[in-house]
Amino acid sequence: MAKKDYYESLGVSKSASQDEIKKAYRNLARKYHPDVNKDAGSADKFKEINEAYQTLSDPAKRSQYDQFGQAGGGFGGFGGGGFDEQFQGFEGFGDFGDLFDVFFGQQRGGRRSGPQRGEDIRYDLRITLEEAARGVETELEVVHFTSCTTCKGSGAKPGTSPVKCSNCGGAGQIRKNQRTILGSFTQVVPCPTCRGAGTVIGSPCPECQGSGREKKRHKVKVKVPAGIDSGLRLRISGAGNAGDKGGTPGDLYVFITVDPHPLFNRDGENLYYRTKISFIQAILGAEIKVPTLSGEITFKIPAGTQPNTNFKLKEKGLPVLQGHGRGDLYVLVEVEIPTKVSREQAELLKKYNA
Ligand SMILES: [Zn+2]
Ligand SMILES: [Zn+2]
Repeated sequence: MAKKDYYESLGVSKSASQDEIKKAYRNLARKYHPDVNKDAGSADKFKEINEAYQTLSDPAKRSQYDQFGQAGGGFGGFGGGGFDEQFQGFEGFGDFGDLFDVFFGQQRGGRRSGPQRGEDIRYDLRITLEEAARGVETELEVVHFTSCTTCKGSGAKPGTSPVKCSNCGGAGQIRKNQRTILGSFTQVVPCPTCRGAGTVIGSPCPECQGSGREKKRHKVKVKVPAGIDSGLRLRISGAGNAGDKGGTPGDLYVFITVDPHPLFNRDGENLYYRTKISFIQAILGAEIKVPTLSGEITFKIPAGTQPNTNFKLKEKGLPVLQGHGRGDLYVLVEVEIPTKVSREQAELLKKYNA
């Protein structure tokens, strides 16, 4: 998506003062606020002017934008997309922790009448570095809500039907005045009594107490792709909570944590390993054992190796996630200087030094 020019978005010149920017923003926000403007595209326009205002109203961000044409810290890229059929789809979410809370546990869209999509649920999966390297298939036991089998999700006692809600007269919505910094708006909100359904249950289903859902344990197969890293999540479509009144179920998000490894540090697909050799081995060269994810190998240290030399063992790292090839294993070699030598050793060293 091409970024619109922020000055253009607010209809101000590049030399506009903070006051002019604020005024332009307030006018446009009033005009395009989704509560007052029902035109198609007004929500996008509202978002656009908010984004522009957020950058231009902050002198530091504005100067960065003037110089580089972009504002740092945008939320582009988050959208629940990134679906991949090869496995279940993964998305990085480095900086989206805050957004995530908004994303979860909230109803999408404002309207609550009609079938509701079920909530997304989260499962935290810890795997070892070895598992991350080769990929792993596992079965998760997930507790989620499914449609109640007794009432088939209606919430009403079998043989009875829901009755019209008296609070909203069956409309599912009520009007509410709301005061915001942009002025006062009349907002249409879901009816709190029937939660937007327009109907309430007269005699609730004895099994689910009228919720239409029951908690169940179920097993979900997950395929964790090789090369995965902490902070990535897999999405299993439709494995979340059942929706209301036949709405589609939510998704299951599997958050991956790769446990720290006792020997290796990891950075992306590269691994780092630290080992010690004696100063004699450094001078004369030596064969040492180096662990890798696929077992121990013998590595030849050349004669005259300097302290803290980093050797690169090509393609002994992790596979590139969804790509080709592997990372490397870096072996940092420290040289140990003995803190104590015997009299004979000291004599030999003195001879060497002569
Ligand atoms: Zn039920
Ligand atoms: Zn109602």
